Amino acid sequence: MKDGTPVRVRAEVTGTVQGVGFRPFVHALATQLGLAGQVGNHGAGVWMEVEGPPAAVDDFLTRLSAEAPPLARIGAVTVTPLSATGAPADFTIVASRSGGAATLVPPDVATCEDCLRELADPADRRYRHPFITCTQCGPRFTIVTALPYDRPRTTMAEFRMCAACQREYRDPTDRRFHAQPVCCPDCGPQLSLVDAEGKPLPGEPLAAAVARLRAGQIVAIKGLGGYHLACLATDPAAVATLRDRKHRPAKPFAVMVPDLATARTLAHPTPADEALLTDPRRPVVLLPRRNGSRLAEPVAPGLREVGVLLPYTPLHHLLVTEVAAPLVMTSGNRSGEPILHRDEDALAGLASVADAFLTHDRPIHAPADDSVARTVRGRPLLLRRSRGYVPEPLTVPWRFPRPVLACGADLKNTFALAQGYEVICSAHIGDLADHPTFQSYPAAIAHLTRLTGCTPQVLAHDLHPEYHSTRYALAQQDVDLVGVQHHHAHIAACLADNRHTGPVIGVALDGTGYGTDGTLWGGELLVADLATFTRVGHLTPVPLPGGETAIRQPWRMAVSYLHAACPDGTPEELPLLRRHPDWPAVRRLASTGLAPLTSSAGRLCDAVAALLGVREEISYEGQAAIELEQRTDPTVQDGYRLPVTDSRPLRLSGPELFRQVLDDLQRGTPVPVIAARFHHGLVDGLAQACQRVRERTGLATVALSGGVFQNQLLLTGLRDRLTAAGFRVLTHRDVPPNDGGICVGQAVVAAAGEREPPAEV
Ligand code: ZN
Ligand code: ZN
Ligand code: FE
Repeated sequence: MKDGTPVRVRAEVTGTVQGVGFRPFVHALATQLGLAGQVGNHGAGVWMEVEGPPAAVDDFLTRLSAEAPPLARIGAVTVTPLSATGAPADFTIVASRSGGAATLVPPDVATCEDCLRELADPADRRYRHPFITCTQCGPRFTIVTALPYDRPRTTMAEFRMCAACQREYRDPTDRRFHAQPVCCPDCGPQLSLVDAEGKPLPGEPLAAAVARLRAGQIVAIKGLGGYHLACLATDPAAVATLRDRKHRPAKPFAVMVPDLATARTLAHPTPADEALLTDPRRPVVLLPRRNGSRLAEPVAPGLREVGVLLPYTPLHHLLVTEVAAPLVMTSGNRSGEPILHRDEDALAGLASVADAFLTHDRPIHAPADDSVARTVRGRPLLLRRSRGYVPEPLTVPWRFPRPVLACGADLKNTFALAQGYEVICSAHIGDLADHPTFQSYPAAIAHLTRLTGCTPQVLAHDLHPEYHSTRYALAQQDVDLVGVQHHHAHIAACLADNRHTGPVIGVALDGTGYGTDGTLWGGELLVADLATFTRVGHLTPVPLPGGETAIRQPWRMAVSYLHAACPDGTPEELPLLRRHPDWPAVRRLASTGLAPLTSSAGRLCDAVAALLGVREEISYEGQAAIELEQRTDPTVQDGYRLPVTDSRPLRLSGPELFRQVLDDLQRGTPVPVIAARFHHGLVDGLAQACQRVRERTGLATVALSGGVFQNQLLLTGLRDRLTAAGFRVLTHRDVPPNDGGICVGQAVVAAAGEREPPAEV
């Protein structure tokens, strides 16, 4: 390039570059550098042509990536030289064109500081406007109907911008320049407070909703990704009524507080927790509960933790500030069903739950539940990756040879689309055994497929023949199917989360997953890489007497373990057995060989929780194990022995561990002490088993995955033990360790099977 002679280039930018203020940023940068040209969105991202002195164009291209807006995530920048046209130094934003390959819609973003300032400013024209938004915040994924991301392809399409909003939208120097959901009290959506028939209730909607909440009523509130059910979190009667009407006896509710200061009055957040609470993706964060706080006990019955979140829409900010008390904010659904997001469905579905509906006329196109996260020793761990994160891709260092749809598992279902170097996970779908949830599944797949432009050629699914996700996969035409073993998928998800190819020693602990031998696995040691695995160890299988019933009734698992642990006969005097006089029938079932066998660690925890009288029947998944963990005495350091036989595969004797629990119980040892010794024993046995595998294989990296690793004591306990023994330990971060992360593992396993041996990273 010769000095000073104008040059012209075309640059294409892919990634998350629509709806994040990228075109205004390009416009401002080009204008500042005195360049001529144009910028626009198309189906594949953002394109631009710039013309001017070579040094300025070079500067432009460098700063394009380096100074991109905070919400942008640049995939690739392709630069093509063109011939200069000698155009005047004028830079414009052109209307969208459709077509081209995939681009990404950004996730929904919590209201930004600038918008909050205006929201609270009586002189601002958007003072107290519940739909205030700008290029840096507001609804995105949940309102987009198609690509490219532009107002006509969002649920804001039907709202005609007023002259004042249009001026901001068109002004390159305005912070609402091309902010697609921009609106104001004159032209934007309107709040309404209605009853279950949709008839308006008296009063100004927001003030009347606040008054009802303060009076102890339950109000359904339309949010970003669906309806919430809200009530005062400080009012035990209101919370109990909500539990009763929602048929949700025990599963903890999340609590929304106006700010960090209030969060600190309810819980003990660490600095890392506070960073997560204020993250613009706004997950629910699990925090240690503060004793003596004003939180009503039934918010999180029997738990030492509480899920807290900060407001993420302007409506939330107005509500929680005016109610001036923490609010329960739980998904607006009937127990186990998908979150309701269409107005008519919400009114009908929540008619018997909510006293009133605070709603508005901006449709929600794609439902998305709140995300849930925690920190473990200062590091975030996602337990549910949904609103705020979806559809942000996970980047992996291995290319997917063909586009993959990974169907996920049946519980906590999410699915994933993978192509190039990216895995795009869906929002939380839920339990596919629930009929309305399964009905929503194909539509959710179709929507995400459209938004990503990904046409799957490979379908990855669980091996469980009875899973609804498996049946869905088997019914699809013109695709190649790949069955992926459940625990291999868990370990592969952890590998993908750590950008590690393996091989590793995988410790997969969960409720149950279908094993290659037709039994139910769930306490597994695998030697695994992305393509293959070998089962090198597992908990001793015991009968699951009554199948699904035994999962809902942990006391049955206790009977099964008693049968396995006491060959000389069941100690009939146990209080647990007295409370369940039909136990002999369960034992018979366990001894006949008719019950399916399981090596599940979750079921072992259930059996111990039931034996100790902590929890004998459950109303939500994992309840017994969660409550057992919460009961542990943190001062107890010693543990039981979990014997590991020297067989191939190794066997870890759960019944012998259980026997020591029983002996201690019969000696009158306090339950919290026994619970602690049980956890330490499990950690110790697993660590020993990993050492045996290392001796046999030379592998010194361990990946920890599966829903049981939501248990902090087991996660940090095993990680510390293994680290002290010289292992490198991989744990989850962005991909949930539970079945909500299975789809990521399925996707990378399916691709690894078609690829040359993966390159080292
Ligand atoms: Zn904003
Ligand atoms: Zn307006
Ligand atoms: Fe699992």
